[in-house]
Amino acid sequence: MRYLSTRGRSPALSFCDILLGGLAPDGGLYLPEAYPRVCRAELDAWRSLSYADLAFALLSRYIDDIPAGNLRALLAKTYCAKTYAFTRPGSDAAEITPLRWLEKDRLGLLELSNGPTLAFKDMAMQLLGNLFEHVLEKRGETINILGATSGDTGSAAEYALCGKRNVKVFMLSPHGKMSAFQRAQMYSLADANIFNIAVTGMFDAAQDVVKAVAGDAAFKARYRIGMVNSINWARVLAQIVYYFKGYFAATENNDQQVAFCVPSGNFGNICAGHIARQMGLPIARLILATNENDVLDEFFRTGVYRPRGAAETRVTSSPSMDISKASNFERFVFDLVDRDPAAVRELWAEVDAGKSFDLSATPHIGRLPAFAFVSGKSTHADRLNTIRRAFADYGVMIDPHTADGLKVAREQATGDMPVLVLETAQPAKFGDTLREALGRDPERPSALAGLEDLPQKVEVMAADADAIKAYIAQRQ
Ligand SMILES: *Cc1c(COP(=O)(O)O)cnc(C)c1O
Repeated sequence: MRYLSTRGRSPALSFCDILLGGLAPDGGLYLPEAYPRVCRAELDAWRSLSYADLAFALLSRYIDDIPAGNLRALLAKTYCAKTYAFTRPGSDAAEITPLRWLEKDRLGLLELSNGPTLAFKDMAMQLLGNLFEHVLEKRGETINILGATSGDTGSAAEYALCGKRNVKVFMLSPHGKMSAFQRAQMYSLADANIFNIAVTGMFDAAQDVVKAVAGDAAFKARYRIGMVNSINWARVLAQIVYYFKGYFAATENNDQQVAFCVPSGNFGNICAGHIARQMGLPIARLILATNENDVLDEFFRTGVYRPRGAAETRVTSSPSMDISKASNFERFVFDLVDRDPAAVRELWAEVDAGKSFDLSATPHIGRLPAFAFVSGKSTHADRLNTIRRAFADYGVMIDPHTADGLKVAREQATGDMPVLVLETAQPAKFGDTLREALGRDPERPSALAGLEDLPQKVEVMAADADAIKAYIAQRQ
C-alpha cells in the first residue's frame, strides 16, 4: 500500500515512511492510494474476532512494510485488557471498546475511554507508541517528541510513549491552568524519558514555543524533533477498528445498518468512520456533533467551510472540541472532490490564506449526500440537560463531549436502526461540569483513586524558545 498527499505534489510513500512525519512536503495530508474493500465473507468471518485480531485483519491491509508476525504482536500488546482496564463497574475490559445500551437496540454508548487517560485518544495513541518503538529500533534511530497540551492530547501521548526505547517526550503545558486531576495525570509519570515543562502563560504561549522550536530547521534536524499531532495517518487508521467492533457488537448479522454519532473537533475520529464506510461497513449515517464551535456543522448544513480566527473561537465546557479549523477535514474533502488534488489545492489556497470556501454552487456538492453525513450542534445548556437526563433515565454519568454527541444523536435518530454514540471521554475528567449538572462528583475508575497524592515531576519555565531548546539539548 502506498500513501499519497491530498495535494498531489509529494512522492508516494510506504506506511513506515509516513509514520514518524507530519504533513506531506507539499502541505497536504497522507491517505492510502485506495481504500481496501471488505467483502461480505470477510465481515462474516470478522464478527467473532477479538479486538486485537480484528485490528490485525484491518490494519494488515494498510501496512505492508512491517512483517505480519511483528504487526500481530504489536497489536496484541496494544489492545489488551490490562491497558484498557479503566472501565466503569459493569463494563468488560476484555472487549476493549464495550458497548453499553442506553435503550436496547436503539441507542448505545460505544465506550472508547477506558485507556489510561480516560479519553478515546488512547485508542490510537497507545498503538502509535508501540509502532514508534518498533520502527525506531529497526532503523537504529531516536526521536524527541515535542508538544504543547492543554490537557488531553499531551497526556495520551505521554502514557503511550513512557518507558519506550529511543523516544524522549518534552511536553509543554500552561502553568497553573490545568485541573488538579490533569496535572496529577501528567506530572505523576515517573519514567525517565518523560519531561513535563509547565510554561508560564496560557496554552497559546506554550504552543508558540513549540512552533518556534519546530520552525528552527537546523535544531529540528539535529535533535530529530517529532510530533504526534492529530493529522498523523496512523492515528486515523487505528480508529477505524472500533467502528467495525461497535458495528458487530450492535448487530446480529451483516445485513443490518447502524448510525454512528461522533463528538467532533479536528475531524480525526469521524474521518475514521468515513473510511470504515468506504471500506464497505454497513454504516447508514455518520452523525457529526459539534459544540458552540460549529465550523463543521455549518459545512454539512450549507456547503460553506469557514475556519474561524482565535477571536471567534469559544472556550466551552467541552474543551477538546474547541477548534477554529478542523485539521483532518482535508482528507474528507479529497474524497468528496473525487480525489482530485488540483481541486484540493485550490480550496486550501483559500483556507491557508485565512479565508473560507463554498461548495454549494459547485458540482462537488452533488456528491455530498452519497457520503451519508448529517450534523448538529450543542451548547453548554444542552450539555447540562443531556448529562442530567442520561443520569436520571439510565443511571449513567457521561462527560460533556459525549453529551454533545448524545444530544445531536437524539435529534438525528430515525428510529429504524441503532445509533451508537462514541464516548470520547469519561466524566471523571470533567468534575466541574459534572458538579454543575448533577451537584455531585463524577465516578472515577477505582484504579485511579488517590492519583493526586502521587509525587509529581515537573519543571516550571518561562515561555522562551531558546531556554526550551537548551533544556532539550542538555538531556540527550
Ligand atoms: C479529541 C477529542 C474530541 C474530538 O475528536 P476529533 O478527532 O478531534 O474530532 C472529542 N472529545 C474528546 C474528549 C477529545 O479528547
